Formats: sequence, structure tokens, C-alpha cells
Amino acid sequence: MKISRISIFDIFKIGVGPSSSHTLGPWRAVRSFLQDSQKIKSLADVVSVECCLFGSLAFTGKGHQTDKAIILGFLDLDPETVEIDKIEHILNDVESHKKILFAGKYNINFDIAKNIIFDFKTPTDYHPNTFDLKLVYNNGEKHTARYYSTGGGFFELHGQASAATIKPMPPHPAQNAKELLALSVNQNKSIAELVFENESFWTSPEQVTQRIEKLWDTIKDCIHRGFLSTGTLPGGLNVKYRAGEIARRQYDYPRFNSFDEFLNLLRGEQLKYSEVSGWVSAFALAVNEINASMGRIVTSPTNGAAGVIPAVLLYAYCFENKISQQNICDFFCTAGEVGTLFVKEATISAAQGGCQAEIGVSSAMAAAGLTQIMGGTAAQVLEAAEIAMEHHLGLTCDPVGGLVQVPCIERNAMGACKAITASQLALTRDPRDSLVDLDDVIESMWNTAKDMNDKYKETSRGGLALSVTCREC
Ligand code: SF4
Repeated sequence: MKISRISIFDIFKIGVGPSSSHTLGPWRAVRSFLQDSQKIKSLADVVSVECCLFGSLAFTGKGHQTDKAIILGFLDLDPETVEIDKIEHILNDVESHKKILFAGKYNINFDIAKNIIFDFKTPTDYHPNTFDLKLVYNNGEKHTARYYSTGGGFFELHGQASAATIKPMPPHPAQNAKELLALSVNQNKSIAELVFENESFWTSPEQVTQRIEKLWDTIKDCIHRGFLSTGTLPGGLNVKYRAGEIARRQYDYPRFNSFDEFLNLLRGEQLKYSEVSGWVSAFALAVNEINASMGRIVTSPTNGAAGVIPAVLLYAYCFENKISQQNICDFFCTAGEVGTLFVKEATISAAQGGCQAEIGVSSAMAAAGLTQIMGGTAAQVLEAAEIAMEHHLGLTCDPVGGLVQVPCIERNAMGACKAITASQLALTRDPRDSLVDLDDVIESMWNTAKDMNDKYKETSRGGLALSVTCREC
């Protein structure tokens, strides 16, 4: 995809779990469909709505809550602001009354079993995450549109360019890592500085700072919720909330009034390596347990991989004393920019590239962000991303029961730990000694994605999804 106009806020989106491609993308697409449709004809005239899911959306849509996301989209609720605690009640209401408050205003009949169709047979051609939306009006006319959920909450309307391609060109566009490095060297600016200037061009420096602060607050709130959670995750696999158990066992977590209070205590501790890595894992688990329970997370670059970035950022915050607002801003700018390189030259969709496109990309992003705030050069930042991705190449997507739980939740902890190691390796080497650069590994990842058997691309038809005997799913 030859585009250079992707914002880091296209990569980092505040949303709802469990999946960016199967939940957030379809949800956002439905809302966009409603906006477009009302330009053609009043939504008050709609008597019936329908959604048909194909490909990976059909195969894992139940486990990934795609049907629920579509309903929430038809209700025109905003994934960034919807009250999480009310979602279940809203959905139960739609199911029991067989009615939906279409576009948040018009009461129409809606039978989930009939109005959301899982089509397992029709093959997909352009993208494995394809779905059709249909409105039927009171005069019998119909309005339909085909959408593709392309990963990370991005979506495309059939026949129309993605929103990222129609943004104005920023002052420092880079299509790939080589161009990004050249910009940094020629202008004597860090990658974080270049990205901040690009983002400020689209909005303003104040808005960029505010949006990053909001991401940071959302991440902290998400982990706080994870540390307070008990029992088992929804979906029937009986997977336990583990992050809260760790936090309770170590520090009797519920005694803290806020997550910041807990972080301040943790920052003052003298911990062994195993204890530090234990907390990195706990942060990652907390985010993905909240994600798996349809909680609020920051997509980074996807929901299934949303725990890696927070875990590595909190590692830097708690154990490397990187606590300034500037550190946090630089981390997000750098990590986000590396995420955009994968969107431009490969994919962040597991339905296209397996888990290397999710956990692999998030690990590369986190390694880059960490290296930036640890004082690495631009070449070392890109080298860290390269190392992290290199050691995720070929990773398949095979979620058990179609749920974003096993292996997904633990996989975030692994991605975070690999990112920290990748950063440490990059910071101790002259990048000119490396045989592989980031563009090489992105190309290799994309080629591997194209060669990968479809069974391993978010269909739950291969790997662990078949090997694990699951009595209840
Ligand atoms: S296996 Fe990886 S890519 Fe697949 S759903 Fe889980 S986290 Fe996402």
C-alpha cells in the first residue's frame, strides 16, 4: 500500500475488545455506513437492517464478538465512549425484545439469528475480513455496501480509498524504514521529533499531547481494572483472570486507591530480574484479560496484541525511571510510527498474516519506543524493531475456540519480554554490523504472510485451535 499519511492515532485507538479486526473495525464501519447512508435517504425510513459476514469474520466472528460489535454499530454507539458496564445489558435487551434502536433513534425489528448471517461458504477475494451491510426502506428499496476490516480497527469501503490515503501529506513523510532513517539523519532530529511534527501538522502540538495523555490514562485504567478482576473470563474456556491474582498475592492490590499509587510503590522497590519480568507479564496479562472481556483498551496496533505496548511502557516507567511526559510522548510517537511502516508495506491483520502481524508488530513497535526513550539513535530504534519482528516471523494465529484468550493473552507477555530484549540488544550494537534491516524483515514478514496456509490466519481451523480439546467451547 503506497501511502505515507497514516497517523499514530490511526494505530493507537481507544476502543473495546476483544478484536480490532473482528470487533472494532466492523463496529466503526457500521457507524460510517450509517453516516454515508443518511446522505442518500433518511434513516427514519429504514425498516430492516442486515449484516452478512464472510471468511475469517464468519469463522471466528462468534468468538471475537463480531455480531455484538455489529449490533453496537447499528445502535450508533461510539466504541471510544460507550459505557462498558452497560454493553451486556444493551445486547441482552436487543436479543430478548428482538428490537433495535437503529442509529440510536428508530425502533425497528431485529432478530440477531436472522439479521446477522455467518456465511462460511462464499469465498473472499480481496480481503479475508469481508462483510456486507444492507438497509431496507419502507418503500422496499435497498441500500447495500461491502466493507473490509483490514486490521487494527482500519476498514475500507469497497471501491473507495481508505481514509489514510486522503489526508494531506505531512512535512516528513516516510514510506519505509530507510526513508525514515534518512529523514532523521539529514534533519538531525529523532524519529519521535519527526513524528510529533507530522502529527502537529494534522492537528496541533497541544492536541497531540492531549491525545497521548488520554492513551496513557486509558492504559493505566485498563491495567487497574485488570488487577481488580477475579473469576473466569467470558466465553466458556474457563480461563482465569491471572493478573489480578498476581497483584493481590504480591501487594494485596485492592488496598491501593489508584493505579498511580501502586506504580509509585513499585518504582521504589529493589526487584530481581525475575520479579521485574513477572510484572511486565502481569501488565500484559491485565490488558488482554480486560480485552477478552470486552473491556476498554488501546488498540496497539490491534486488540489481540494490545498488552505489549502498555507492558513495555510500564517497564520503562517503573524500572528505568522513564516517567516524564516527554518520555511517554516520545514512546508513543516512535512506536506508532513503526506500526505505520507495517501497515504501509505489509499488514497488521492476522487474517492476512497470522499472529506475526499482531504480536510481532506490537513487539517491534514496543522495542522501537523503548529504545527511543532509552537514548538510542534512530538507527538503533529501527534495529530494535527489526530484532523484535525477526523473532516473531512465521507466528501463526490459531485462537482456541475462536476466542481471543488462548494463546493470545500469554502471547502478549512474550511479545513484551522479547521487545525489551530486542531493545537491549540494539542498544549494545552498532546497527551497521547487522545483516538484516527493518525493511528486510517487513518484506520477509509480508512474504511469509502470503505463503502461510489460511488455516493459520485467524480461522481457528489449525494449530492449537485443533490440538486443544475444549469440552465447553
Ligand atoms: S493468536 Fe495472535 S493474532 Fe490470533 S487472535 Fe490471538 S493474539 Fe490475535
